[in-house]
Amino acid sequence: MSKIYYTKPYITQLEVDYATDAALNGWGDKCYDYIYKFEDSFKKHLNVSYAMATSSCTGAMHMGLSALGISHGDEVIIADINWIASAAPIVYLGATPIFIDILNDTWCIDPSKIEQAITPKTKAIIAVHLYGNLCDMDAIMAIAKKHNLYVIEDAAEAIGSIYKGKKAGSIGDFGVFSFHGTKTMTTGEGGMFVTNNLELYKKVNILNSHGRNPENPKQFWAETIGFKYKISNIQAAIGYAQMTHIDELINRKREIYFKYFSLFKNVEKVSMNPNPTSNELVYGYWMPTLIFDAELEFDRDLLIDKFKEINVDARVFFYPLSMLPMFDEVRNNKVSLNIYARGINLPSYHEISDGQIKKVADIVVEYLS
Ligand SMILES: *Cc1c(COP(=O)(O)O)cnc(C)c1O
Repeated sequence: MSKIYYTKPYITQLEVDYATDAALNGWGDKCYDYIYKFEDSFKKHLNVSYAMATSSCTGAMHMGLSALGISHGDEVIIADINWIASAAPIVYLGATPIFIDILNDTWCIDPSKIEQAITPKTKAIIAVHLYGNLCDMDAIMAIAKKHNLYVIEDAAEAIGSIYKGKKAGSIGDFGVFSFHGTKTMTTGEGGMFVTNNLELYKKVNILNSHGRNPENPKQFWAETIGFKYKISNIQAAIGYAQMTHIDELINRKREIYFKYFSLFKNVEKVSMNPNPTSNELVYGYWMPTLIFDAELEFDRDLLIDKFKEINVDARVFFYPLSMLPMFDEVRNNKVSLNIYARGINLPSYHEISDGQIKKVADIVVEYLS
């Protein structure tokens, strides 16, 4: 039986053509052409002033936090349930991630828990739009303003998500995206740093060039210790091709979510990503996710084994980061600790068929009975 992947890039002839062109011709004077096109198209899509393509989202986050001056002894507030990539750059800079609880419905940071976590060392809040679900940005921005903190949006999973008319990633001081092969759009590996703040953009631009300032004509002159998180022209060629049909990539993810949603809406004791009734919130639905009710005796490994038997990929919900050996446990994060073992992500690659979606749903229903 052919495998039902949980994610897989959606690559057309255009991606192949642009990548081939970059490999054949994109050298010398043309070695940045696709990078600039990619950045421009992303900027337009997101409606932001500045965008810089990077080799990863992790790198974009590392440079952005560094440019904000986050360093030794600082604290950065972030939701406990997350992929490690959102928190690791805090640690790279010698700062400490402060893990707080999530909301029960969006699985994103609980704004009502932020203020009690703020100390004189707090510098920033990282709002991660988990699985494409949206953080409560109004509440987060208001708290940040009151306490003079930066807000960073990790929108790696949220291309296609729109908060009150603004695209996810365009609201905070800066936003970051990932184009890893599992994401809604891909460059293989890759990321994007976006901001509306010219000063911040300039700083990150210098950091990403090993500390070289483009305004200084002196060759090979570094004015600070920087980084090197550049994307290649060949990867950017694939990214630019993906941007020419980004709406198709996003819409298909939504379609897949709604197919699952209609199959599960009458199934008791399971719930999915929020399905907003207001059009103020639009979700990108990178990962259609199922949460099994707490009263069920749910055995995640058993269900995943059932999936594996018929060659279906499924993935477990992210762990609370505070459970990992490098961090201290936070027993107070009750929602995070209660929910993570009850969640799985469902296969949602663009070319999945209705029959395959039905098959996935059938396994779950069979498991529940
Ligand atoms: C994928 C992902 C990242 C990391 O992206 P890379 O491009 O692999 O560095 C960061 N944050 C979130 C929320 C992600 O899903």
